[in-house]
Amino acid sequence: MHLFKRVREDGISLRLTHIIMLILALSVTGFLLYETYETSSAYKELTLATEEYIGLRYSVNELMEASDYLTDKVQCFTVTCDSRFMNEYFEEAKHNRRRDKALEKLSTVEEEPEAYDKLEMAMSESVALMETEYYAMRLISEANGITGLPDEIEDVSLSAEDGTLTSEEKIKLAQTIVHDEEYYARKERIRSNMNSCFGYLESSVRSRQLGSSEEMEYRLKMSRVLIVIESALVVFLLWITSYLGINPILKGVQKIREDSKIPIIGSYEFRYLARTYNKMYEAYKKSISNLNYDASHDKLTGLYNRAGYDVLSSSVDLKTTAALLIDADKFKEVNDTYGHLVGDKVLKKIAAALKHTFRSEDYICRLGGDEFVVFMLHMDEEHRELVRLKAALINSALSRQEDGLPPVSVSVGAAFGKDAANIKELMDHADKALYMVKEAGRNGCCFYDEGHTPGA
Ligand code: GH3
Ligand code: MG
Repeated sequence: MHLFKRVREDGISLRLTHIIMLILALSVTGFLLYETYETSSAYKELTLATEEYIGLRYSVNELMEASDYLTDKVQCFTVTCDSRFMNEYFEEAKHNRRRDKALEKLSTVEEEPEAYDKLEMAMSESVALMETEYYAMRLISEANGITGLPDEIEDVSLSAEDGTLTSEEKIKLAQTIVHDEEYYARKERIRSNMNSCFGYLESSVRSRQLGSSEEMEYRLKMSRVLIVIESALVVFLLWITSYLGINPILKGVQKIREDSKIPIIGSYEFRYLARTYNKMYEAYKKSISNLNYDASHDKLTGLYNRAGYDVLSSSVDLKTTAALLIDADKFKEVNDTYGHLVGDKVLKKIAAALKHTFRSEDYICRLGGDEFVVFMLHMDEEHRELVRLKAALINSALSRQEDGLPPVSVSVGAAFGKDAANIKELMDHADKALYMVKEAGRNGCCFYDEGHTPGA
């Protein structure tokens, strides 16, 4: 719970997410490679088993065909006594050796004991059959006085009984040997043993094929599952990258353009960045506003200073504004008599009296020394008396000495903006009005267009 809360507040670490995703992607890719390797191995095994099956089938056919061919030749020889057939027999038996080659090929599958047994039985039967055929050919050769016999025939010796037979009887016997039931039964035994051998081999090869194809199917299924997982990982990676990184960056850039703080969203690292930026942004804004305040305000009184006055005077609406130029009377004497520090306090007292008397919407400025300006907004002719009253209130407040400060007074020169072409002219009017008050003995208020009102 604690961890979950921390993750919700601080966000998930981009670096950790990156490492986890990398490990996951590499693992899935590794498994996928392994599966494709296994698939291709199973495919190779399947191809090999199929090729082996075709080879076995071919060998058995060759064996049978060669065997029939030899039978055919030996039978023809016994019937026609034409040595051409015997030569063709040995051409096949010694040079083409189709039967031997097929047997050799079949004998390579020794790992199948049952098939091998059958093959051996077929082979020994085949050797015995050939010896019978040699015997028949020997009988024919002797009966016909054929010379230049192959070694295999030359080596055959007839039994004592057969040796005494006449030529016709020898031919007859030879024909019987290669045509009788016994001969065909032996041939059939060879064929049936070969078929059994092939049957065993075939079932072994078939089971290998089946195993390989099942293996292949399983591996392909696994590969499909892994591809789906990998695709899901890619989609998740895109989403998480956008959620943790891209989206927060885009929003952050937009907020920076709008000159505001950036939202605390996305990854841990981005949140850290956002918090740091926001802190710096706040400090920056604060120092800017402090800087503005310091630049536009008078340190001693807190009123607008000359720079503030310049900005305000250019922004006021002349038609509805009245300007009051206020100057402390004989302020030099205050300084001379009580000292500069007391003079400062008196200036502060004057500022406080002005703030207290005028509305918050009016602009009160200290132009310098003991000279102040008040821009009274939304003013018209009806407010003349009010202005006079305010001047009187200020002077009344400044005359009180409860605070231990010497009593002072101010002179106020007032002018309406509607009578001036611009701010400079307005201030000239106010200055003239002030001059009139000073001339008339100070401590009073006078409007530029009406002369002064002494003793107000
Ligand atoms: P008047 O009635 O004609 O205005 O006479 P005044 O003595 O007030 O003459 P004026 O307004 O010309 O003099 C202003 C004096 O204000 C001059 C200077 O000694 C004093 N002064 C200017 N700035 C400061 C300040 O920051 N602190 C103090 N204590 N005195 C200042
Ligand atoms: Mg003065």
